[in-house]
This record gives sequence, C-alpha cells and structure tokens, in this order.
Amino acid sequence: MISKQMKEFVANGSAIRAMFEEGKEMAAIYGAENVCDFSLGNPNLPPPDMVKEAIIQILDQEDPTDLHGYMSNSGFLDVREQIAQSINRKYNTSFSNENIIMTVGAAGGLNVVFKTLLDPGDQVMTFAPYFGEYRNYSISFNADFAVVPASIPSFQPNLPEFERMLGPTTKIVMLNTPNNPTGVVYTEETIAGLAEILYRKQEEFGTNIYLVSDEPYRELVYGDIEVPYVTKYYDNTIVVDSYSKSLSLPGERIGYLVIPDAAADSGMILAAANIATRLLGYVNAPSLMQKTVAKCLDAKVDIEYYDRNRQALYNGLTSMGYECTYPDGAFYLWVKSPIEDDGEFVKMAKKYQILLVPGTFFGCPGYARIAYCVLPRTIEVALPKFQALMEEIKEKTL
Ligand code: PLP
Repeated sequence: MISKQMKEFVANGSAIRAMFEEGKEMAAIYGAENVCDFSLGNPNLPPPDMVKEAIIQILDQEDPTDLHGYMSNSGFLDVREQIAQSINRKYNTSFSNENIIMTVGAAGGLNVVFKTLLDPGDQVMTFAPYFGEYRNYSISFNADFAVVPASIPSFQPNLPEFERMLGPTTKIVMLNTPNNPTGVVYTEETIAGLAEILYRKQEEFGTNIYLVSDEPYRELVYGDIEVPYVTKYYDNTIVVDSYSKSLSLPGERIGYLVIPDAAADSGMILAAANIATRLLGYVNAPSLMQKTVAKCLDAKVDIEYYDRNRQALYNGLTSMGYECTYPDGAFYLWVKSPIEDDGEFVKMAKKYQILLVPGTFFGCPGYARIAYCVLPRTIEVALPKFQALMEEIKEKTL
C-alpha cells in the first residue's frame, strides 16, 4: 500500500487530471478548434531562436565528457558566475557564483529550499491567492501551512493580516511576484512594508524568518513595470527563479536559487541546499540546459504576443461586465466569478467549452483564473462564448 500522505495527493491530484481529461473529451465531441482551454499555464510560444543556436553551438564546441558528465551538485561554476553577474548588472547587487545553485526548474528549487530549511511543525506562510504547490510541498515536508487572506481588490499581500498571523513557528514566507494566478506585480511599497514587518517579528520572536521569493514570471512584465529585487529589501531572502516561462523551456527543467551572503546562516544553507539536491534525487540541474541558459541571459520570449492576448481578453471581458484584475505581469487574467460559487461558474463555462480554473484552487474562492498563454484564435473563439455565458448568468440571477 502507498503511504498515507501519498494517498491524499493521489485523491487531490485526480481533480486536476479530471479537468485535463475533460478538455480532451470536449475536443473529441466539439472539435479541438471550438474548445477554449485556458486551464494550464503551459507557454505556447516557442523559445527564442537563440536557444536552439546555443544548443547547437554547445554540442559542437564543448568537450562531451565534461558537458554530459557528473558535476558539482550546485552546477557548472562558469554558468553560476555568469548568472550572478547578470543579476548584478540588472539589479545592482553583488552576488558571485557561490550564491547560486542551479536547480531543476523553480519546482526543484522550492523543494531544495523546503528540504534545507524545514523541520516538522515549522510553518510556511503565503498570501492568497497562491500557487497550489506551496501547500503540497509544505505537506510533503510535514510543515504547517498558513494562508493570509487576500486583499481585495488590489491582490497585493494583505500586510495587516500578515503581521497578525506571523508566529514563532513561521520559518518560511512564500512570495510570488508577478503572481500566479492574478498577474499582479507587488509594488515596492508592499515589499518594503513586508520586509519591515518581518524584521520586527524576527526581533520579537528571536527567530529567523526566510522570505522565499518565487519568481518564474519576473521577465514577463508589460510596459515599464518594475519588479523590485527582493534581496535588496530583506536580508533573509532566498530567490527561486526559472527559465520555464521567460525562455519557454518548462519541459527542460532548468532554474536556479540565489542564496545571499546576507541571509542568516547562509554558509550552512548553501552547504545544506547542495546536499538537498542530492537527497531529493535531482543530483544536479540538466547540464546541457545550464550551458544553454548561460548563453541566453538577455533573451526572452516575445512578450508582445502575450500582451496582445492580455489586451484582447481584458478589454473583451470587461466590456461584457466581467470584473477583471488588470494584469501587469505573467500570462494570467484573474476574473471575479459573476456568481458567488466559483466552482459553479467554472462548471457553467464548461457548457460553452471554456475551461478555467476556480479560484478555490488558489485559496481564493469567488474568482477564476484564465491562462492566456494560448493562440490568439482561442481568444477570438472564446469571447462570444463568454458573452453568452454572461447573458445566461444575468438571466438566471435577475
Ligand atoms: N512557481 C510558480 C508560481 C509557478 O506558476 C510555477 C509553474 O507554473 C512554478 C513555480 C514551477 O515552475 P518550474 O517549471 O520552473 O518548475
């Protein structure tokens, strides 16, 4: 028999899989071109051309035994140095290769951080709405999980509630900006306010509280929006980044951690994180991809494409009476359910072959997430369906 913990994961995992299966069934009945699947955050843009060129160049030029062999668990030293220097150039920081650990995507990085920091009973706290895996990873490491209720309508972290909820067992605070599922970018004022509360609470409790900044959408921002670099506001910050979205490489599983010298016990954390990569069985991040991203540090996918989708959906839906949060980053639109029950709203949308994820999945009932990393045609097909859905809701609720 499988473990009790895994039994629960299997039971919960099947809900998401059911949605995926439903999409496939719908495609068979109505034709794939009539199904508007906004459920998954799987980038639909190809990686920049530079990625393919870099891979070919690396395969042509690098010594294959070095390239494909085992290495330090933290990753290639030259790659880590180049990433550190690139962050320093962009954000005026002073990291070196010693602060960087290459990871198997952001998901791998988060697991390494959780393995490194958490004892059973420690608390992980985050802000609603949040990326559901934070809960799963916390359970997996036998940590308590606490969610600060959303601040509506800004969806910036709710700082007064955060301050009230922090306690002596809080070890990790998870931050995700640009945010999945809202697309909101947390302001400098929010980050500075959060840091100020954390410094005060650390002092009060005599503990170290680590702010884990999960940033796979950092490069996906629109216009001249700036995403503050969190290590500059709070010393005990660990950054988790990945190339899954910025270079459209989610299947290649490549990312990195930044563990600053300024973080309490940074030497021990680096040593432990190194071992955690081994214990979790990742051993090291994929070697070809490490070399590849180092050659593409200034590249990113065509953000204009996502921007066009963003404008088309936001303008289309708001003109029909849907209340949407204007997203400054990522590729998600957060829409208020026009009826109280978001599960019911998502169910009604399915009748029009529109697939959404209910806000309840993100710890924030009453809303739904639309992933707009889709073909523009999907949005064109979806808008009249959304209109019909709104009319049905209006008729029912009048
Ligand atoms: N964190 C957030 C907020 C995400 O949305 C995702 C993926 O969608 C991840 C982490 C995991 O990213 P990766 O593919 O780099 O593991």
